[in-house]
Amino acid sequence: MEKAMLDLTPQSIENTLPDPAGVEAVEGQQESPGGGVVVDASPQNEDFHPQMSSTPEREDREKKAEKRFKRLQAEKHELRKLNIHLRKQLAKMRKEKERARKSEMRAKERLRHIERVKPKGGKKLAKERKLAVVSFLTRDENSRLLPGKKDTITKNKIKEQRRILTKPLTELHVLYNSEMKKSLHLSYRQFARRRPFYVTEPKAKDRDTCACMDHENVHLLANKLYSRGLLKTKSISELLVMIVCDPKNKDCMDRVCAKCCFEEVEFPETESSSEVTWEQWKRVTSTNGERMFGNMVKQIYNGTIKELMELFSQKLESLAIHQFNWLHQAEQFRYLKQNITECEAVLHVDFSENYACKLSTEVQAFHFGGSRQQATIHTAVLYTVHGTKSYATLSDSLRHDERAVWAHLEPILGELRETFPQITTLHIQSDGPVTQYRNKNNFYLLSTVPFLSGFTKVTWNFSEKSHGKGAPDGIGGAIKREADRFVQRGGELQAPQQLYEMLNTRLGSSITHYWVNRESIEKYDELIPDNLEAVKGTFKIHQVWSSQPSQITHRTVSCFCRKTERSPCPCYKPVTVDLRVKRTVCNTENPPSSPPQQPREQENLDLCGKFVIVIYDEKPYVGQVLEDVGEEVQVNCMLQSGDKNLFVWPQTVDLIFYYRKDVHAVISEPEPATSRFSKLTLQDWVKFRNTSA
Ligand SMILES: [Zn+2]
Ligand SMILES: [Zn+2]
Ligand SMILES: [Zn+2]
Repeated sequence: MEKAMLDLTPQSIENTLPDPAGVEAVEGQQESPGGGVVVDASPQNEDFHPQMSSTPEREDREKKAEKRFKRLQAEKHELRKLNIHLRKQLAKMRKEKERARKSEMRAKERLRHIERVKPKGGKKLAKERKLAVVSFLTRDENSRLLPGKKDTITKNKIKEQRRILTKPLTELHVLYNSEMKKSLHLSYRQFARRRPFYVTEPKAKDRDTCACMDHENVHLLANKLYSRGLLKTKSISELLVMIVCDPKNKDCMDRVCAKCCFEEVEFPETESSSEVTWEQWKRVTSTNGERMFGNMVKQIYNGTIKELMELFSQKLESLAIHQFNWLHQAEQFRYLKQNITECEAVLHVDFSENYACKLSTEVQAFHFGGSRQQATIHTAVLYTVHGTKSYATLSDSLRHDERAVWAHLEPILGELRETFPQITTLHIQSDGPVTQYRNKNNFYLLSTVPFLSGFTKVTWNFSEKSHGKGAPDGIGGAIKREADRFVQRGGELQAPQQLYEMLNTRLGSSITHYWVNRESIEKYDELIPDNLEAVKGTFKIHQVWSSQPSQITHRTVSCFCRKTERSPCPCYKPVTVDLRVKRTVCNTENPPSSPPQQPREQENLDLCGKFVIVIYDEKPYVGQVLEDVGEEVQVNCMLQSGDKNLFVWPQTVDLIFYYRKDVHAVISEPEPATSRFSKLTLQDWVKFRNTSA
């Protein structure tokens, strides 16, 4: 279009401008109003000029005429020039008019096009971006749900449980763009504008409640060093990147990667002996006479800069695997829910805080007499291809152990089997307190109970310690608010059963409630065999997988890369255990015949003088055998510095007799690392780390 128009213009100029006829015509018109007579006469004057120059009178007239003629010619010349100029301007204006018309047409065309196509796509994309930001920011690793009844925020009459960001918004923005596809990328301002109102920056008050002691303590130290100009960043993820090859690699974060396990954050030269104070959270127990309370308090410490830097390095080092587990588990849970199939269900469970029943007009004596009844509330969110459903199971039994858990799960699993009989795989997600979910009894129950009702495969997945808050928390909060409103309106909730009845008869609730009586909990007590032995490394287990009764496969983190298959994938060193036989059946990575050879090798070997890894109280120690007396060996053990590959001989000799079977491995003599400390060879260090797993 544009080109064609440009080609046309020069032609139109040529056509109009140099056309002599046209010029004449316009000239004639222009001159006639001024002096039409003169113009007509002038050619005659020219013709008569020679004959009329004989008399002086005539000469005079002729001169005048000549002057006039010259003037008129000059005028004519001027007018001709003016005419050409005007003509040019006219052509220019015509051209401009044409151009304006065309661009107007184009604009109209564009507008029509926009109306036809863009609005839908634009709106759709905007919605998609908004959703992407909301789901990104409400991920449990990016913001933490505050569990309190009062931790709500209301905007435009919409009440939501408040969440606080776990990282600065700028850092989250970078993460967001690095993770999302190109069409969802946003500038920081666009990103910040799409933040949901209930996801907020932490307030001073929130900082006083500690979500995760491990993370908070590193934060406190990093902030201190940052404020003294000794660190360039206080972001934990950025600090970890400085000491590992890849924060998404488990070996790096577990500090057993050969390339990076000795890396440390480097500090600039500084007066390292000057005094400094710092804060750390500490768990203290207090008592009110009858009961013990565990509390977190912030304590102030004094020391030198050097000590602060060393403490920081040590804490950052041990934080690495915690950070890995947290983010890895969160990512796995997200993957699981996003890729759920027809025959799978995901159940995210959690105990809510007990509800203390109350009356509308509370009698003081009742308040202090301790006779207030409490209700146990276990909450669950069920995910299937058909959608999401929330549950709360209530009981007057205050038991929170694994047997109670299965009694609380029973009605939900029953409903699930009945509604969707095609669902035969059950994935459970929970946090990992050993008293509730992460213990041998639960492992036994999860590998037996679901098979009785028709499930063929079960996985139980634990979120990392202190990072388990999620969807079920919202249910507990909603129930308590509902109960409080009921009491405020004059209702009576004296007993847990009344709470259940009130909730169950309320119309329009999105939560399904079930009552769990004491007998159904006791039923599970009888299911557990007496002599179940502890599963080795229970504290570190984050996934238990069972597709065969009483047999489990466990590993230190979850993996769902082959979640639809019957047996687990070989990722992250799964270990299979038969809970009834109580021995390791096989390590999926090694053929079943090979692993238990090591102890046998040591059976006849004279260990005297050898360096060994010995297990005591489920923990590994490095030491030297001083005496070998058949069944037992006497070992002088070294002290480990934190979680590091640094060992030192203690001031007082630590001589203990160990059973030979507790000697896990014979290793080579530790090499000097610093003036005081020795370190294990990488091979031995891996052995040592695997022993603690
Ligand atoms: Zn943490
Ligand atoms: Zn590495
Ligand atoms: Zn895998």
